[in-house]
Amino acid sequence: MTTKVDLLSLLPTELEEYFVSIGEPKFRAKQVFARLHKGERIGEITNLSKALREKLVNETLDTLPTVEEKLVSKIDGTVKYLFRLHDGACIESVFMRYKHGNTLCISSQVGCRMGCKFCASTIGGRVRNLYPSELLGQVIAAQLDSGERISNIVMMGIGEPLDNYDNVIKFLKLVNHPDGLNIGYRHISLSTCGVVDGIYRLAEEDLPITLSISLHASDDEKRSEIMPINNKWNIDSLLSACRSYYRTTGRRISFEYTLISGKNDSESDANKLAALLISAFRSCGAPIHVNLIRVNEVEETGFRKGSVESVNAFAKTLERRGITATVRRRLGSDVNAACGQLRRSNMKKDEEE
Ligand code: SAH
Repeated sequence: MTTKVDLLSLLPTELEEYFVSIGEPKFRAKQVFARLHKGERIGEITNLSKALREKLVNETLDTLPTVEEKLVSKIDGTVKYLFRLHDGACIESVFMRYKHGNTLCISSQVGCRMGCKFCASTIGGRVRNLYPSELLGQVIAAQLDSGERISNIVMMGIGEPLDNYDNVIKFLKLVNHPDGLNIGYRHISLSTCGVVDGIYRLAEEDLPITLSISLHASDDEKRSEIMPINNKWNIDSLLSACRSYYRTTGRRISFEYTLISGKNDSESDANKLAALLISAFRSCGAPIHVNLIRVNEVEETGFRKGSVESVNAFAKTLERRGITATVRRRLGSDVNAACGQLRRSNMKKDEEE
């Protein structure tokens, strides 16, 4: 059996090579690229002959995710999608409306193997990496379903993007392409739990995306307790990689800090975090920003969130020390928008049946 070609994962030049390889003219690539990126299926592209369409339907993969379930928040209109992939696996994306435009939070893997203790996505481990077409397909499918343009992407859904490195880079080039969705790199954020070798590689790609680091603790002992990746790359090596990322790209760095009641949310934790970031970035002058979020409670993890006052107090302490901090608005809190939870409940449903 010959393997089927995943057309939606191909850049225009690769698509040209593909058409030439099946005896078709190069210009077919241009005919097909833009239409696939609008969400048309290969069998629906009527400016191709019927015979060619039939051949393509047989020889290529259709990897566009389909909407399996959709929850719309009554509070703020946030839409949580459970997408079904061509092999039956499910992932999640979240569509959020902000003043600066519509943002889609996308998944990068089916499951995750990073093992963060508070996170629902990692509970069943990593099943597989998403293809570039499936990363892109979440944006295409959400745009089709909502009828609205998506202008910003955050890679903060299920999975660790730097653990699916090559496919993520390919996706970034596809989604940025002017003949496709044309989303600017500056409107894309990639969040990592701290895959240090990936951060160095990413810096070399020369793609001006925003890097977001899931820090969640300011000393190695606490961080290792909740994030196993810290045993491989500790805080020191992570912050060195961030400095290097800033020196090569000039992009500000964001830090995510999830507040877990009684674990990392005291005033002394806030002071330690401020001291850590100040000493790490004083010398290079990188603008840094901290996003605070109260932990979303996941049944299996047992972690609890603190009060609104505790997160506000934490933010004030950081601000007093000169660190800008934002308390994340919890969009879609009524639709289980915390990453991994919808897929998890769908898996449980399947197990029970
Ligand atoms: N693997 C990447 C991106 C996916 S997770 C990363 O770790 O950054 C996106 C963000 O959600 C991360 O900051 C992650 O630590 C955080 N997160 C995961 N589970 C959470 C939970 N239960 N409550 C709050 N934040 C959570």
